[in-house]
Amino acid sequence: MQTSERSYDVIIAGGGVVGASLACALADAGLRVALIDAREPVTDWPADSIDQRVYAITRASQTLFERLGVWDGIRARGVSPYLEMQVWDAAGPGRIHFDAAELGEPLLGHIIEQRVIQAALLEGQQRLEGLERFCPAVLADFSVGDTQVTVRLEDGRELSAALLVGADGAGSRVRELAGIGVQAHDYAQTAVVAVVATERPHAETAWQRFLPTGPLAFLPLRDGRCSIVWSTVPEEAERLLALPEDDFCIELGQAFDYQLGAITGVSARGGFPLRRLHAVDYVQQRLALVGDAAHVIHPLAGQGVNLGLLDVAALAEVVAAARVAGRDIGSHANLRRYERWRRGENALMQSAMDGFKWLFASQLTPVRLLRNLGLGTVDRLSPIKSLLARHAMGRAGDLPRLVRPDTRS
Ligand SMILES: Cc1cc2nc3c(=O)[nH]c(=O)nc-3n(C[C@H](O)[C@H](O)[C@H](O)COP(=O)(O)OP(=O)(O)OC[C@H]3O[C@@H](n4cnc5c(N)ncnc54)[C@H](O)[C@@H]3O)c2cc1C
Repeated sequence: MQTSERSYDVIIAGGGVVGASLACALADAGLRVALIDAREPVTDWPADSIDQRVYAITRASQTLFERLGVWDGIRARGVSPYLEMQVWDAAGPGRIHFDAAELGEPLLGHIIEQRVIQAALLEGQQRLEGLERFCPAVLADFSVGDTQVTVRLEDGRELSAALLVGADGAGSRVRELAGIGVQAHDYAQTAVVAVVATERPHAETAWQRFLPTGPLAFLPLRDGRCSIVWSTVPEEAERLLALPEDDFCIELGQAFDYQLGAITGVSARGGFPLRRLHAVDYVQQRLALVGDAAHVIHPLAGQGVNLGLLDVAALAEVVAAARVAGRDIGSHANLRRYERWRRGENALMQSAMDGFKWLFASQLTPVRLLRNLGLGTVDRLSPIKSLLARHAMGRAGDLPRLVRPDTRS
């Protein structure tokens, strides 16, 4: 067993999209960073295959990737821009349509495979001198001292730093070891995901139909197919996952009201149980949580990883500012600035998603009438519509410098 200890400014546990982006941002700012992940990212795949995990990436997240110097690598591997968004209610005529051109934007966002982002981030990390990767390696334990936090890996190695960041996802071991509690809520829904072929082209549009059992999204992919996220009650999801392909395609076409004609093919399907989770604290002395380790939200607006990337930009700004001012980057007082900045904004987005979910699940006639009236009204009122769109693009709220469209950090 090796026990020699290595020293860094920051140790990041978890190299998903959020942790890997934070590693790039901090190393770029001149800090010495150790990044630990249990798995190496995939870097090679057959040209005609599509990852089951895709993200709707906001303009703000794109700006972050540009600033980190990884956007070209992402674009070169394949992205799918969407210029329009159609949202409508299965139980009435209400519909809202967002169009990038109307908002004076070239596009609303991109649909990108998780593996594409991870491979480009890996390439970016390899260019950064101050960054050391520990992959595959698993964080087993840590202890906090006066000036340092010491992390032990399962293979016996020890690393120390002024700050440990938990970017280790919804089941965060860092959060658990720190004894940080969570507010959790089971949505009693499972998201069925797959890649599907449709009779008509997707028209570079992100589509979402609200069914009484949950939202059904069609996200446009670069090869002309769509990635679907069909959130529904768990028993129904189990049935959908077990259906023969042809029957699944027929049911999906019906559920989607044939907006793109018949469904002509489907890939392997996957199911993700959905829950909301919010860490009671984001920070402690020498410790901070980012991404899904801090908050998990309903995927209906495709905001999860985007919120995590806003955490990244905020934490990187707070840590870099402390370093420049000669303050302790891992002190609780310093990290509280990050928590105050992000916790409220993330809670607001979680509540908005819950509100939407409730509004569209309700079978009460007054609520149904109201939401149809509401969708139609919002669609006609351009200031409200543009505010909603700015939120969806990540262009609203108190934005960190790394994601602001007009500043260079
Ligand atoms: C069906 C579905 C659709 C979604 N669609 C979207 C979308 O369109 N847009 C969007 O923004 N979000 C979407 N999300 C949310 C998104 O998937 C998450 O918000 C995002 O993956 C969180 O990233 P993360 O890096 O914080 O965590 P994760 O992706 O969970 O990464 C955590 C990493 O930590 C590593 N790890 C864990 N424990 C340890 C340990 N002890 N030691 C070392 N390494 C460890 C893991 O190997 C992993 O690489 C969706 C979610 C679901 C379920």
